[in-house]
Amino acid sequence: MSSVLELARPEIVALSPYSAARWDPALVRLHANENPWRSAADGTRAGLNRYPEPQSSELVERLAALYGVSPGQVLAGRGSDEGIDLLVRAFCRAGRDRIVVCPPTFAMYRFAADVQGAAVVDVPLRAAEGFALDADAVLAACTESTKIVFLCSPNNPTGNLLDRDAIERVLCTLTGRALVVVDEAYVEFASAGSLVPWLARFPHLAILRTLSKAYGLAGARCGAVLASPEVTELLRRMIPPYAVTVQTVEAVLDALQPARLEEMRRHVAQLCAERERVAARLALVPLVTRVWPSAANFLLVGSTDPGRLLEAGIRGGLLVRDVRRQPGLAQCLRVTIGTPEQNDRLLASLEAA
Ligand code: PMP
Repeated sequence: MSSVLELARPEIVALSPYSAARWDPALVRLHANENPWRSAADGTRAGLNRYPEPQSSELVERLAALYGVSPGQVLAGRGSDEGIDLLVRAFCRAGRDRIVVCPPTFAMYRFAADVQGAAVVDVPLRAAEGFALDADAVLAACTESTKIVFLCSPNNPTGNLLDRDAIERVLCTLTGRALVVVDEAYVEFASAGSLVPWLARFPHLAILRTLSKAYGLAGARCGAVLASPEVTELLRRMIPPYAVTVQTVEAVLDALQPARLEEMRRHVAQLCAERERVAARLALVPLVTRVWPSAANFLLVGSTDPGRLLEAGIRGGLLVRDVRRQPGLAQCLRVTIGTPEQNDRLLASLEAA
């Protein structure tokens, strides 16, 4: 058994997979208790009367090509949220194991651990250094019961990339000791590249990617865990067999056509340009004390009166995210970059406050 599976819950490693109805498109399906007729409202190519192929090979191959890995390194799920949940359930025994998170960060890591009954150890990012990863503190916090370290880069809600050398040090030291999950939900908006090439070096690295942000498919619910084949195979055993719907598979394959990819790159470039424009303008708003540099499609904004800015946004018909309850962000809001018109409306509303 490889060392990365030694970190997983033994009962999951031993789990017999659910045996889904055989997938063979050349044969008539009289084996899955489906309806032979399609609804008149069914606009899909494959037909919603049929269960989807578990882990659609077309989708997995397309995602593998997109991210530059082999199909065996891809687990497709309902957003990266599902990847987080599966990883925590696969590696953490309730009441015994724990995860490390670096707040302020994406809340789903803690939520998944709470649902699983795994403990959460906080190792805060260093706010004074632009929310830098404290690799020494992360390593010091890892004990034998630490099964996963979650790192988010670019980090939500602070927007910064984590230092690669610091991530590498965490990875090198935790070989055989814990899984390191790097959440790259926003990496398409960053100038730095993905850590995907590191998968070849580190069998205990898992990378989360999503189609919800740069690809504009949040409503389709599709994300991927990229990891060593032992890890993806383990997660494949746990994920419900028909998790990714026919509509999702078709929407993703359509969105990943070359012409659409060009449009996606244009949108990302426009959002990055708008991010810089909005950051500069926000910095001039009287109630704003600070706008942090961002490598994502949102900005972290400090204010003397965040409540008043939130209300001003709502008066202008706009929602921005209240992050005041996150550790170290008592005076902060998170603003997602919209269209130029939406951004102008936001700026006008906040300036009026
Ligand atoms: N990771 C991060 C850092 C996020 O901010 C989000 C969404 N807010 C997700 C993962 C989840 O995205 P999805 O489930 O839509 O892929």
